[in-house]
Amino acid sequence: MTSSFSNLSLAEPLARAVAEMGYESMTPIQAQAIPVVLTGQDVMGAAQTGTGKTAAFSLPLLQRLLKHESSSTSPARHPVRALVLLPTRELADQVAQQIALYAKYTKLRSTVVFGGMDMKPQTLELKKGVEVLVATPGRLLDHIEAKNAVLNQVEYVVLDEADRMLDIGFLPDLQRILSYLPKQRTTLLFSATFSPEIKRLAGSYLQDPVTIEVARPNETASTVEQRFYSAGDDDKRRAIHQVLKTRGIKQAFIFVNSKLGCGRLARSLEREGLKTAALHGDKSQDERLKALDAFKQGEVDLLVCTDVAARGLDIKDVPAVFNFDVPFNAEDYVHRIGRTGRAGASGLAVTLVSGSDARLVADIEKLLKTKLNIETLAYDDARPERTSSRPSEGRSDRGERTERFERPARAERPERYEGSAPRAASRGGFRPAVASRDPFFEKPYEAPTEAALAQWEAARSAPAVRGLSANIKPKRKVAALFKPVEQNAPS
Ligand code: AMP
Repeated sequence: MTSSFSNLSLAEPLARAVAEMGYESMTPIQAQAIPVVLTGQDVMGAAQTGTGKTAAFSLPLLQRLLKHESSSTSPARHPVRALVLLPTRELADQVAQQIALYAKYTKLRSTVVFGGMDMKPQTLELKKGVEVLVATPGRLLDHIEAKNAVLNQVEYVVLDEADRMLDIGFLPDLQRILSYLPKQRTTLLFSATFSPEIKRLAGSYLQDPVTIEVARPNETASTVEQRFYSAGDDDKRRAIHQVLKTRGIKQAFIFVNSKLGCGRLARSLEREGLKTAALHGDKSQDERLKALDAFKQGEVDLLVCTDVAARGLDIKDVPAVFNFDVPFNAEDYVHRIGRTGRAGASGLAVTLVSGSDARLVADIEKLLKTKLNIETLAYDDARPERTSSRPSEGRSDRGERTERFERPARAERPERYEGSAPRAASRGGFRPAVASRDPFFEKPYEAPTEAALAQWEAARSAPAVRGLSANIKPKRKVAALFKPVEQNAPS
């Protein structure tokens, strides 16, 4: 379902901004969600970053807020009317930049607050008054407690990447934030999956939501060529060199399962002559943004990253993704390889499978309902000279905790996920994503065909055993935390 933005009768300032972005037609999530949000109904949307989700909620939201436009400089004339909550600082920054672009010809103000940086500049912005506030939950609570953010006039709240927020353990923070909002409001929830926890969250906070599902989470884009090569831990870097060379690939993301492995692998590849940067949760916000920018500018060939750092980042034209480590969670495989083959471009996803990965590969097969063919890679080079005495640089030691499962102590807020950064506007880096006009958006994910499903069923001799490494903490049972929360608590 694709249609023109002109069918929406968007107000002129918004239509102008959209035209300037170069968008020609709506993406499926936009075509479905915008008319619903324009009527003020609650929405439960299954859509991932990269589908045009931000415009899907922010354009109608801005349209409905236009009645509050004010050229007054008085902060009282610019109360927070819309709140957009996201799990990570990068996503918050990315979404805030997009909203600022859509709102640029209106008098509506927007800003972003996230953790790990000085609160003062954020406080100044908030005190001036903003209609649209984009935030990560922990830092928003800090501002609420400091009375910098008053949310009693909020008409719209967006819970974006809600599954991720629950994964990270933000549920208690979300419950508190939602308790400060007026009951009479529109709530939009976007999540990659509709897990039982997400359904419970929606049941508690959404009223008769319209369900919109455009990109089923467990499907991979047809534009991505998926390859699985068997490679012992000591051969994995060599395999990367080989694939880069034979395929003539200049840039790639390389996913690893741990922060330690991430840094190590980046250093080893750098020593082997590849321009490399590491992106993981322990990097400062400034380092992360620099790494991303260097990658976007083509100054860096390989971005070695963990799942936490990379999820949802909208970087176009990544020709290849390597899974140096097979992800512990099969869903992460789908997210990882979704970094390539975006916007209709073809992409290559290479997963390096060692002897101990059989169960993890079986999990991926089960999720994708496809039998995966693990190939042997032909090497035409001598081994790259070993530059380290370590037996296996970059290898994810299963004894290390993976990044996504590391949680802060109870007393700490998960600031590491929010991090520190100067505000986007003052920083000048982290360029807004370039508008894409690609048919990819008409069909973001392709479901496996009936024949493929049948083939899978036939090939499956025994059901894959689902289980987690003994070193992984199971996902928190967030459902138990749901308690009725008193709405409209005083701020
Ligand atoms: P999002 O899923 O909101 O992060 O958007 C992903 C990318 O798609 C961003 O770079 C947007 O600028 C771009 N985009 C959003 N809507 C459209 C559209 N209708 N046509 C082309 N590109 C779009």
